[in-house]
Amino acid sequence: MALIDEEHITNEDAFQRACASLVGGVNSPVRSFAAVGGVPFFVAGGHGSYLTDVEGRRYLDYIQSYGAIIHGHGNPVVLSALTEAARQGTTFGAPTLGEVELAEMIQQKVSGVDLVRLTSSGTEATMTALRLARGVTNRSKIVKFEGCYHGHSDALLAASGSGVASLGLPASVGVAPNAVADTIVVPYNELPPIDETVAAVIVEPVAANMGLVPAQSGFLQELRSLTEQSGALLIFDEVITGFRVAEGGASALYGVTPDLWCFGKIIGGGLPVGAVAGPHHLMNHLAPTGSVYQAGTLSGNPLATAAGSAALRLLNTASYRMLTGRAEQLAFGLTKVIEEADLAVQVQRVESLLGIFFADEPVTNYRQAVASVERGIYPYFFHAMLKRGIALAPGPYEVLFPGLAHSVDDVDKTIDVASAAAAEARE
Ligand code: PLP
Repeated sequence: MALIDEEHITNEDAFQRACASLVGGVNSPVRSFAAVGGVPFFVAGGHGSYLTDVEGRRYLDYIQSYGAIIHGHGNPVVLSALTEAARQGTTFGAPTLGEVELAEMIQQKVSGVDLVRLTSSGTEATMTALRLARGVTNRSKIVKFEGCYHGHSDALLAASGSGVASLGLPASVGVAPNAVADTIVVPYNELPPIDETVAAVIVEPVAANMGLVPAQSGFLQELRSLTEQSGALLIFDEVITGFRVAEGGASALYGVTPDLWCFGKIIGGGLPVGAVAGPHHLMNHLAPTGSVYQAGTLSGNPLATAAGSAALRLLNTASYRMLTGRAEQLAFGLTKVIEEADLAVQVQRVESLLGIFFADEPVTNYRQAVASVERGIYPYFFHAMLKRGIALAPGPYEVLFPGLAHSVDDVDKTIDVASAAAAEARE
């Protein structure tokens, strides 16, 4: 017998039930409300820019599955590709043309990509990219930037952003010291020393896991020259920025070509996916053509590739114009109404990605992001928005993902609500 009458279930009931079978009631820490207090709402469904919870409340959604969704929830074209694929079977453990189609689309859209290896998550993509870089260079050290999040593999959890930062963890218990002994952590937007022991420098070309922190002018270009000089590989983690900040991602936006790319989120159209991509001479080191091993039972899954290809096919120049337009409107409006409420705010934006810092000055690195979060305003602002029907991420280090389903009216409504929410948060 069900413990709870599902017709009359509340979020509180759902959370209690979840906590009895799932650790902390969630399957990813960022979904818990640990950073903002309270009980998470449980989603019953999503349509376009809106979510509905199990109590029947609707929220205008700026989480959009942390950027896995760009066309809004339940886009009919993506759904029909997905259901059509499901009718043919859900996984085979043998190659399919669906995988080829997704890889070809990534090749076409991202200049410099010759070959792709699909994985089931962004974490696997970055993990694979590191192994590949070490295998190719025969070097061991990895440089990562403080506040950048590259998934939850041991070597990359050091000084991470996103949920690790929200929960106030320096890294994770359970990561053996030797697993991070070769990880060098340096401040974002500063050029690191790179010697002949460094296999790779991995970077979010727009940092989007410590709030939104743009790469300062010249930073990525300088990283490119430094890595070239030292023989280290430059890895762009475009799990968030890929196909979002421009059709060709951040490498196209900034005109900087890395050695390897990591993708995820959008390329799965809302299903689990990741990818490592790069030129022939590097990618061919992966098994079966090379000796860097990597594998996955569900890699290139037919449902994920069908949804991902459909999502990518729908994106064109007009999509990006529209996305950026919405984000500009949102950033301008949020800044205005929050400042009018007498709160210091920096709404930082790169194309359609934006983040809200309650800070006096623009934020350029993780230390400044932490100082802004420590002002403690975000949880109040978050709850004041949520109770008025606008869902931001329940963590101060996450960004907003306005998507193609967000209308001008949605954005206007958000700005109106933010005006009241900011006044309430100030009290
Ligand atoms: N890299 C970046 C930049 C991310 O934002 C994320 C997840 O948010 C990851 C990697 C890890 O991806 P996944 O959660 O699919 O493992």
